[in-house]
Parts: sequence; C-alpha cells; structure tokens
Amino acid sequence: MTSADAEQALKDRLAQLRARYLEHLPDELAALSALQGRLAGKEQDREVLDELQQRLHKLAGSGGSFGCAELSAAARVLEQRIGSWLGAKALALDAASRQWLADEIAGLSRTVPAQSMEPSEQPDAGVLPETRPAVDRVLKVWLVEDDVELAGQLGQQLQSFNYAVRVFDGIDALKRAVKGEQPDLLLIDVMLDEGRENATARLVDCPDLQALGCPLIFLSDKDDFPSRVRAVQLGAQGYFLKPLDVPRLVNRISQIFEERRAPAQRVLIVDDDADLAEHMRLVLTAAGMEARVLDAPRNIMETIAAFRPELVLMDLYMPEYAGTDLAGLIRQHEACTHLPIVYLSAETDIERQIEAMGRGADDFLTKPISDVQLVAAARSRIARARQLEERISKDSLTGLLKHASIKEAASREVLRARRVGRPVTLAMLDIDHFKKVNDTYGHAAGDVVITSIATLLRQRLRQSDVIGRYGGEEFVAVLPDCGAEQGQRVLDEIRRAIMSLEFTHQGERFGCTVSMGMVCSDDYPDQDGNALLMAADELLYQAKRSGRNRVQC
Ligand code: GH3
Ligand code: MG
Ligand code: MG
Repeated sequence: MTSADAEQALKDRLAQLRARYLEHLPDELAALSALQGRLAGKEQDREVLDELQQRLHKLAGSGGSFGCAELSAAARVLEQRIGSWLGAKALALDAASRQWLADEIAGLSRTVPAQSMEPSEQPDAGVLPETRPAVDRVLKVWLVEDDVELAGQLGQQLQSFNYAVRVFDGIDALKRAVKGEQPDLLLIDVMLDEGRENATARLVDCPDLQALGCPLIFLSDKDDFPSRVRAVQLGAQGYFLKPLDVPRLVNRISQIFEERRAPAQRVLIVDDDADLAEHMRLVLTAAGMEARVLDAPRNIMETIAAFRPELVLMDLYMPEYAGTDLAGLIRQHEACTHLPIVYLSAETDIERQIEAMGRGADDFLTKPISDVQLVAAARSRIARARQLEERISKDSLTGLLKHASIKEAASREVLRARRVGRPVTLAMLDIDHFKKVNDTYGHAAGDVVITSIATLLRQRLRQSDVIGRYGGEEFVAVLPDCGAEQGQRVLDEIRRAIMSLEFTHQGERFGCTVSMGMVCSDDYPDQDGNALLMAADELLYQAKRSGRNRVQC
C-alpha cells in the first residue's frame, strides 16, 4: 500500500467511525429524554440524575472528536448543572428546573451537524503518516566535492562506516544523478572551485535538488555568519569546516540517521468509550505512532509488559474501575515507575483534576481534545521521556548504553532468545594498546578514537542489535537472532573496518585495532546473560594473549 492509499484508508475509517457515531446519536438523545422524563421531583431522582450525568459526561468527552463540538459543549453545561444538583443536600428538583432540563435535552439534537457535513476537524497535514526509511539497508551518502584528494579520502572513510558513497565533482553531475536515484544524505562542499560554482546559489535555483527531501550537510572553508545562516535557510543539518574533522562529521551523519530510524512511539489508550478510543488510535497511528486500545482493565499489566507503551492515555471515569485505580496499580510495579500516564477526561473541575493527578499521573488533558492537540501532546511527552531515558542509560561520549544498561540488555536478550528458541551472540571488544594512543597523541585524540569506534559499531550492526560501552575502551555488542557462524563473520568485518579507520593528530596519521571475544548462546545452553559476558571476557583475554587484532570464539 502506498502512503497515499494508507492515508485514504485511514480517512475512510475515521469517516466510518464518525458515521456510526452520528447514527447512534438519536438513540442516545432519546435515552436522555426518557431518563429526564422519569424525574419526579423526589429524593429518588438521584439514581436517574447519576445516570444522566454519566451519559452527558461521555457525550461531552467524545463529541469534539467526531465533529460535534457544539453538542459536546452543550452536554458539558448540562453535566455540570446536574453535578451541582447532585452535590446539594436536598435533591428534590422543582418543576421549573425539570422543565429547563427537558428543554435543554430536547435542544441537544439541534447541535448535531448533518451527517453529510465535513467534520469540523479532520486530522490535518501535521498528523499524517511519516515515511520511515527501511531499516537495515545500506544507506546512501552522496558527496559533492571537487577536491579529488579530499573526496577520495572522505569517501573511503565513509565506506568504512558502511555507507554506500557516490562522489560528484559538481552540481551538474549531481542533478543528472538525482533523476534516476536518490541519496539518503547529501554532503556538499559549499564553495566548489571558487568562482566557478557556488553550491548554495546553485542549490537555491535548482528545484530538483530542493525537492530531494534528504538531510543536507555543508562542508565549507568559510566560517562567516552569512554563510552559516544561508546553510540554515537551505535546511542544512550540519556545517563542517575544513580541514574536516572526519570523526565528528561521521558522528553527525550517524546521529541524523538514528533520529530518523527511531522506533515509532508507542501509546496505550485506556477508555471505555470504544468509538472514541478507536478514533484516537487511528489518529495516533496516522501520525506515525503505534497505538493500542486496552481491551479489558484487568489485562492492563499484561498489555503493558507485551506492548511496552511509552505513554498511557487514561480515561478517568470508567464503569468497572476508575482511571486513578489503574494508574495506582501501574505504579505498584517498579518497572513502571517512570511510565508517563496522562489522564484524558471530560472532567473540568480543576480540584478534581489535581486530586486525580496526585494519584500516579503526570498530566491532565481535558476532553474534547482536537486531533492535532492529541498528537502534539503524545509526541512531546514521549520525546521528553525518551530524552530523559537516554540521559539515564546512555554514555555521554559515545551515545551507547552504559555498563549497567548493556548488562541488563544482555540478560534480557539471552532470556528472550531461549524463550523463542533462537540463538543470540554476545561480543566483548577492547581497543588494542589504547594506552599508547593516549600517551602518544593525547587524551582528546583517544576520545576521538573511542567515539569513532562507537559510531562504526552503530553503523555496522543492525537496528535490533544492542551496543554498550562496557568500560573506558571496552564495548559489548548483543546480536539477537544471530548464530555463531554469522556472528563471527559480522564481527570480523567490523574488526577489519576498524583497522581501516584513519585518524589524524597534528598532521600525523594513525590507526587502531581491536580484539574481541565472542560467544553464542547455543554453545552455552544453561548460562544466563552474565555468565555469557564472563565467557566472552575470558575469550577476549585469550585474543589479547594470542597477538591481538582478532576475534576469538
Ligand atoms: P590492551 O591491548 O591490552 O587492551 O592494552 P590497553 O593499553 O588498551 O589497555 P589498558 O587497559 O592497559 O589501558 C586502557 C586505557 O584506556 C587506560 C585508560 O587511561 C584509557 N581510557 C579509558 N577510558 C578512556 C576515555 O574515556 N578516554 C580516553 N582517551 N582514554 C581512556
Ligand atoms: Mg585496551
Ligand atoms: Mg581495557
């Protein structure tokens, strides 16, 4: 299915949901009238008023999402009025109040738009599907550079990081190439042969290149304000000065790709209003998220364990259990203490909102909520939660998992591998004679080596593989669904790629090698993640003793 088809299918389903909602509305309004008719101006009215209030509450919450904003607002007024009656000591309603209520309920039908009308709020362009690059294919980096020596050198380095590189000596060659194929990222020397060709000017007046839509990085020898601003205006995601700091450039490229292939954000929706829940699920899905509706409250922990949501949108009032109960239950589980929970309810009473927030949730969104607002709220909360998670679990120099997190990941993956009956391969990697690098070229140069090797590991391994910085110059890679033979091949390729990396320090070039110890879960059937890591460490030690620059398994 193309993305245009998917978009149309989604619009159709949203329209269907809305049609069904509008179809059931007359019955719902009739039920409200019937309930109102049972009011007798006696104390026994409480039960009827309770039910009226619940139904109006639901209408107030859902109407806005189905293009019935006016109905939603009117229902809210009635819900609140009934709430104040219910809060009073004496419940007996006088005839005038009952008549007012009857008129208002009868008037609700006038707020319902005709079925054929467009809903007031369709998901707009801001929430439409985002195209995701296919995971794990070789990424194409195109380089426009007329300095042949620099182009050759940079091209070779980029290839070590597993990018497919094509070099062009000018914009015209690039223009011809984009007719047949498109890069995933474009590196352009801003001042191609000065005077002959000014890349920024040429880019501006070339619609083909403007329409490329891939990330753009500028290489330049000009560090002046106008050039940098021009780059920003052209949408460049990086500006690198010559002489090029290659490790930094490669790191930035890898960052850009990683941001793009971050997994879809996962949202769990808990709401007893099935149509509204389905509507929200569709809207979030359209925005590129993975959304799931909880089928039954009692399955909540199983669903969280299986789906691993990054945000829970929780209705407050539900027939079986209250949202606050479920939020409290989630918080009883240590693994879920950081899971963001946001109440989504038609409750407008600020005190009750605050009280609900005190019970395990992070925020409160008031229904009706527009589609755009829903997407924005979910997106920003998950992005913040991910940032925080990164700060906690990732090493700041390399962006890889820290010691404790990679150990956890190793244990988790070994357990998972055993469960599904597939192998998992673990590798421990250590830079050879690294102390010498520090001693000869300085600690800062040593850091560059560490960062470059981390970037290379990220680039060379699959999205599903987990990589961590185990110690100063020691790394761990966990390769799920990978047997010993394949593991050895992949790791040896990485070893050779690292060997071909070139670093420079004050004009002097140097390289590095690494040693690895590798184990496959198949060969250690009864061992857990920790035991496998210890075995890999032992093999690493053997690799060092037998001459370094090798994979020992
Ligand atoms: P071997 O081949 O046996 O592994 O020798 P080696 O010199 O690499 O091993 P050793 O463990 O003796 O030295 C590792 C060095 O790595 C010591 C430490 O100063 C350095 N190191 C650890 N963390 C960092 C870091 O973050 N940055 C830099 N630049 N150096 C680091
Ligand atoms: Mg070492
Ligand atoms: Mg070491």
